[in-house]
Amino acid sequence: MTKAIRKVVILGGGTAGWLAAALTAKVLGSLVEIELVESDEIGIVGVGEATIPPIQQVNAVLGIAESDFLRETKATIKLAIRFENWGADGDCYYHTFGSAGRNTAFASFHHFWNRAHKLGFGGSYWDYDLNFLAAEAGRFAPTQGNDPIWDMPYAYHFDSALYGQFLRSYSEGLGVVRTEGMVAGVTRHSHTGDITSLELRDGRTVAGDLFIDCSGSRGVLIQQQLAVGYEDWGHWLPCDSAMAVPSERFDTTLPFTRAIARDAGWQWRIPLQHRNGNGLVYSSRHCSDEAAADVLLANLDTPALADPKIIRFQTGRARRQWSHNVVAVGLASGFLEPLESTSIYLIQSAIVRLLHLFPHHGVTAELVDEYNRQSQIEYEQIRDFIILHYHVNNRGSDGFWKDLREMEVPTRLAEKIALFRANGTLVQDQYDIFMEPSWVQVLMGQHVLPDDHHPLADGPSDAELQDQLEKLAAVKARPLPQLPDHDRWLQTQVHRAA
Ligand SMILES: Cc1cc2nc3c(=O)[nH]c(=O)nc-3n(C[C@H](O)[C@H](O)[C@H](O)COP(=O)(O)OP(=O)(O)OC[C@H]3O[C@@H](n4cnc5c(N)ncnc54)[C@H](O)[C@@H]3O)c2cc1C
Repeated sequence: MTKAIRKVVILGGGTAGWLAAALTAKVLGSLVEIELVESDEIGIVGVGEATIPPIQQVNAVLGIAESDFLRETKATIKLAIRFENWGADGDCYYHTFGSAGRNTAFASFHHFWNRAHKLGFGGSYWDYDLNFLAAEAGRFAPTQGNDPIWDMPYAYHFDSALYGQFLRSYSEGLGVVRTEGMVAGVTRHSHTGDITSLELRDGRTVAGDLFIDCSGSRGVLIQQQLAVGYEDWGHWLPCDSAMAVPSERFDTTLPFTRAIARDAGWQWRIPLQHRNGNGLVYSSRHCSDEAAADVLLANLDTPALADPKIIRFQTGRARRQWSHNVVAVGLASGFLEPLESTSIYLIQSAIVRLLHLFPHHGVTAELVDEYNRQSQIEYEQIRDFIILHYHVNNRGSDGFWKDLREMEVPTRLAEKIALFRANGTLVQDQYDIFMEPSWVQVLMGQHVLPDDHHPLADGPSDAELQDQLEKLAAVKARPLPQLPDHDRWLQTQVHRAA
């Protein structure tokens, strides 16, 4: 016997909890009542400052003006991630949100570029990518609405604490009730095993029909109560620790994240309006916390503003992200390290999936299975994309990087790399948020170049190809001189009337 969903209870007030509250309240309106329970004593993880372009869909659904968002969260623009030292020491390439050149119906631009590259002309692949050109020049203004060749997809870096507050006041404005308190136990239905209420340490009870577990890595409902189990991916992604430290703002606000490979992991640098976010992601088997602190603090661009904070994590996913009447979102559902800034996207995607499959007449096995099927595929695809960065490296002859280079990767990833190496083909998998341009940039940026190209790229003569590429590079770069400096553009936005 299923039970209609009239009341949704969210456990947790981190990014996952408040994003779940905001989107559910906005989309379902008065169809459900929403109560969010969080403990001030536990607090939130409080990192998570870089995003990918789908964050703009969240703002669009919530009806948030970009200038308000930038002002309230001290956000900056992110056009790309600059990967330094990944293929080998001294290397540098960008994974931009854009796409290079112009694709034809059957052969993507990289096939033509690859042929030219073998012939010795054509310059860098990134010379044909407006996101790259703008990122390097430190320029930005939205370009959408002109010819699609000049689309410049972008995301944001923001202060995660301010983002949480922003989402909280938005959600409370839509009627979400916040209850502060520590959940010490639950009551479960004697027949179905469903959770019927949260029991707070001070004796209060919060009853509900559907529970969204956003309690972070504790997984208070999905793991501690429902014990769904955890699939550990540490053998593919051995980093299990992070050390984060804020530092003074840099004079110029770069419109990209930096991800710098280090001996046993990598370092991030995220520029915000008021400070820089910095951190080192590392494998505790290969690097002590003391050594990690030395590396991090010796490689800050600006003076630190606080002591480094250590965060431990276990890469993997909850075996069932929806079980009974509990849906786990955010860190409670699993964790993939922040190399491609995908966690907030995974939160967004989980909530959108839940809203698509919303069990208004009650939870059914069909809805739960479909939700879990999609979540699993999505998690695995992002996992594989992250493994790719580590695997195709030429760094070091022993230790961390050698192990990763030589390890056996998931079959689907091995097939993808082999196919690309053979003739530049990439198959777009369903639910993979990373499209062909992303895979091409990481593969070629880390020196995996195709042996062959698509036959259509042999269409033009050598001279014609050279001429076409020169013209294309000039067309791509055309908007650049009109784009303002990133800092100047930010200032005009944040000073707009609220
Ligand atoms: C080092 C690092 C860097 C990251 N960088 C990025 C990034 O650049 N981009 C990105 O998208 N993501 C990033 N992430 C991920 C991002 O930080 C998280 O996805 C995000 O913060 C969501 O966390 P959460 O809300 O799931 O959990 P938390 O922030 O841990 O929140 C958990 C909530 O549950 C509550 N709670 C727990 N137990 C109880 C209880 N018993 N009773 C009451 N309340 C309880 C807590 O009080 C809190 O409110 C990063 C993560 C790490 C570790």
